[in-house]
Formats: sequence, structure tokens, C-alpha cells
Amino acid sequence: MNEIVLLNAYPFTCPACRHEQMARPSLFMQTGMMNSGAGSCLECGIFLHLEIAPGNDRMIAKDWDEYLVEVQDV
Ligand SMILES: [Zn+2]
Repeated sequence: MNEIVLLNAYPFTCPACRHEQMARPSLFMQTGMMNSGAGSCLECGIFLHLEIAPGNDRMIAKDWDEYLVEVQDV
């Protein structure tokens, strides 16, 4: 378990349309298994990968396809 203290929701900015919105932590985040979640932008509908930022006050959103490329490169 890591030491992330969960908030009810985190703000994040859509990388495609820059719309600021809120997301709830995923089940993975809540259990401490993985800092990883997914969701769709409310504004443009793009599918996003979400992770809690190091400062623990917001989430970092990435285009899901770009996230998959990064994971496969590791
Ligand atoms: Zn968007």
C-alpha cells in the first residue's frame, strides 16, 4: 500500500479540449493496487487514462491511445 490519501473527487484537464472537470478515484486507486483509472471527457467524449498526480491534489489525464503506447514502450 502506498500513502495516497483519497479525496472524493479530483480535478483534471482534458488534454484534447482543455475542459476542466472532476473525476472520482477508480477502484484500483481506492484499494491502493494501482494508481490507474479511466474515464471519458464530459465535453468532447475522448477516452482518457487518469492517474493521481504526485501532489495528490489533482489527476493527470492522457489520451488513452497515447497511454497504451507509453505502457508498451516500458
Ligand atoms: Zn475533452
